[in-house]
Amino acid sequence: MIPPHWRDGEVAVLGFARSGVAAARWLASQGLRVYASDLSDSPSLRSSAREFASDRVSVELGRHDTQRIGAAAVAVVSPGIPPDEHVIESARSHGVEIVAELELAARALPSTRLIVVTGTNGKSTTAALTGVMLDAAGIRSQVAGNIGRPLIEIAMEDSHPEWAVVEASSFQLHDCHTLTPAVGVVTNLSPDHLDRYPDLESYYADKRRLFANASGDSVWVLNGDQIEVADMASGARGKRLTWSLQRPADAWYDPIARLLMLGDNELIDRSALRLLGDHNVANALAATLASQVAGVSQQDIADALAEFQPLPHRLAVVAEVAGVLWINDSKATNVTSSLVAFRSMDRNFIALIGGRHKGEPYSPLADAARPFCKGVITFGEAAPRIAADLAGECNVVIADNLEAAVTIASDTSTPGEAVLLSPACSSFDMFESYEQRGQRFEELIKSL
Ligand code: ADP
Repeated sequence: MIPPHWRDGEVAVLGFARSGVAAARWLASQGLRVYASDLSDSPSLRSSAREFASDRVSVELGRHDTQRIGAAAVAVVSPGIPPDEHVIESARSHGVEIVAELELAARALPSTRLIVVTGTNGKSTTAALTGVMLDAAGIRSQVAGNIGRPLIEIAMEDSHPEWAVVEASSFQLHDCHTLTPAVGVVTNLSPDHLDRYPDLESYYADKRRLFANASGDSVWVLNGDQIEVADMASGARGKRLTWSLQRPADAWYDPIARLLMLGDNELIDRSALRLLGDHNVANALAATLASQVAGVSQQDIADALAEFQPLPHRLAVVAEVAGVLWINDSKATNVTSSLVAFRSMDRNFIALIGGRHKGEPYSPLADAARPFCKGVITFGEAAPRIAADLAGECNVVIADNLEAAVTIASDTSTPGEAVLLSPACSSFDMFESYEQRGQRFEELIKSL
């Protein structure tokens, strides 16, 4: 479980948010010495640090002591820290073994079987759906990663679950060496994080690490509509299951009958799924296959699909006010996500777009806007740019802020329509996070 040489010195834990704290706690419980550090320093981090005051864990806030880390036996990296961050590069250059929190946690949970979900988009939704299906079947399981708890936190519990569903980013996979998923899921692949990777191939190379320890027992659940996904899995040992929105597959969508299918069997009617958009049908099919491998029956899968509500801030219907449907998709912080949202709409809608510009042009939204978008209300720092990019393509109005945008949308929408907040921008010009932006939007709707 723990390689003996990890006991030769200190274990450096990089990042002291929730997963770093849990990692330090677990390592200490195994009798290892820990040096945990975080560049931030806040009252909440300090209060977490106090827990370790008299322990074998020393915590440093506000800086990383790169010399001390350079002398560590191993460094455990929290999920939010990209592989090219200075502190990691420096540790690597000192020859320190680097492991992701996910790798540590998998070592700490030797009897738990892992369903590891990766891909560019849809990881959280697919992981959450899979968790609900396992629950429906009464299988002892936990969902971990961005949406749930850090996996290493689960290792601290007295009894370990039979299964864990883990959302794994490319950053985490970069530093996984022995991770051996029982089931590996690739939702889809598209260019992302190119601000963090030198090129697309390096980003895909990290994702490909999912398959690093493939064996005859592995099961791979793969998007059957993307050649990139098939390419990534090519050569990996193990069984492959695919889903498709276009043709019969292990799990597939029949768009004419509007049925989700499991092989030859009807699983559920599209209208019974409370998720908007075909991308969510894909997520549902991926979760279906993963949970079937874990032993969930078709009936339990169908029940879970019918019960599942969208995760917060992801195309979540907030309320219907005077016949107008208000939808919160604040998690859409790039143009691709807003495109997905626009394409999910099947009624006329007003789109609220804006926030902090991230460098992409907004013009691709024009095509997706054509069928149902009757107007765009834009706000925040990016508003002039959005208005310029969409000029001549859509009706665009610039609002002073999100509050004003909601007021204009409320005044100009008519019954039967929708108002969609899908900002295509980050929230940091006016909010602390996309969650805070979505919450504010929901408050504004409640006050209408
Ligand atoms: P992740 O955890 O990978 O960020 P989420 O489930 O949180 O994924 O969804 C985030 C956003 O990604 C959604 O709001 C939607 O815009 C987009 N998305 C989700 N699932 C898919 C999919 N299967 N294909 C393409 N885009 C998707």
